[in-house]
Amino acid sequence: MTGSLVAAAIVVVARKRGSLSTSGAATALALGTICSAAGWGWAALLIGFFVSGTLLSKFKVDRKAARTSGVVAKGGNRDAWQVLANGGFFSTAAAFSLIYPSPAWLSIGAGAIGAAAADTWATEIGVLSSHAPRSIISWKPVITGQSGGVTLAGTLAGVTGAIAMAVIAFVAGWGETAAIAAIIGGISGTTVDSILGAALQIHRWCDRCNTMTERNVHDCGTKTRAVGGLSWLDNDAVNAVSTAFGALLGFLCTFAIRF
Ligand SMILES: [Zn+2]
Repeated sequence: MTGSLVAAAIVVVARKRGSLSTSGAATALALGTICSAAGWGWAALLIGFFVSGTLLSKFKVDRKAARTSGVVAKGGNRDAWQVLANGGFFSTAAAFSLIYPSPAWLSIGAGAIGAAAADTWATEIGVLSSHAPRSIISWKPVITGQSGGVTLAGTLAGVTGAIAMAVIAFVAGWGETAAIAAIIGGISGTTVDSILGAALQIHRWCDRCNTMTERNVHDCGTKTRAVGGLSWLDNDAVNAVSTAFGALLGFLCTFAIRF
C-alpha cells in the first residue's frame, strides 16, 4: 500500500513536469503497483531507475535539446511504450516472483533494470560529450543523438547506472548474485542496445536538410525517408530487446555465480 502511494506521488509529479504522457503515467502507476506488491526491493529499484533517469534527462536539458534537435524520435515526455520497453520485463519478473517465489527472479529483475538504467544513463550523459560519438559497429563518427553512437563519457555513465542499480539491490538484501547480475545485465544490455541501434534500427533521412534523423517528419516540416534498418525496429523495440537481454544475462548469473 505504501509503495503504490509513493509510486502514485512520483507519477503525479512526473506527469505535471512533463516527464510522462497520460498513457505513460497510467503504465508507470501499474508497474509501480506490481513492484510494490512484490516487495520493497522491487519498488526501490523501479523508483531508483525512474527518478535517476528523470533527473538525468532534466540535466542540462537545453544543451541536449540543442544538440539532438531534429535527430531523436521522442522528447522527454515518455509514453506507455517507452515505460514498458524500460520497465516491462522487470515488472513481469516482479509479478512472477509473487506467483512462483524463487531467488532467480531477483537476478532476472536486477539484470533487466540494470540494462534499462545503463542505457538511460549512457544516453543522457553521452549526448553531452564534447567528443563526437562513433558507431559501435563501424567506429565511424556519427551525429550526436543517433542510435548506435557511443562515447567514452556515455559508456562510463552507463556502467555507473548499472552499478547504482547493483547498490540498491544489495542494500535491499537481494544478495551478491543479484547485485552482480545488475552490473553484467546492465553492461551487456546497453551494448546490445547500441549494436542493434547501429546495425538494425531504422534510420531516416531529411532530403531538405541533408541530415540523419529518427523522426518521421523532420523539424523543418519535410517528410523523411527510411534509409536502411528494419522498418518495425524503432527505439522502443530496441530498448525492449536490450532489457530482455539484460534479464537473460541476469538469469545466467544465478548459474555462474555461487557464493
Ligand atoms: Zn529537415
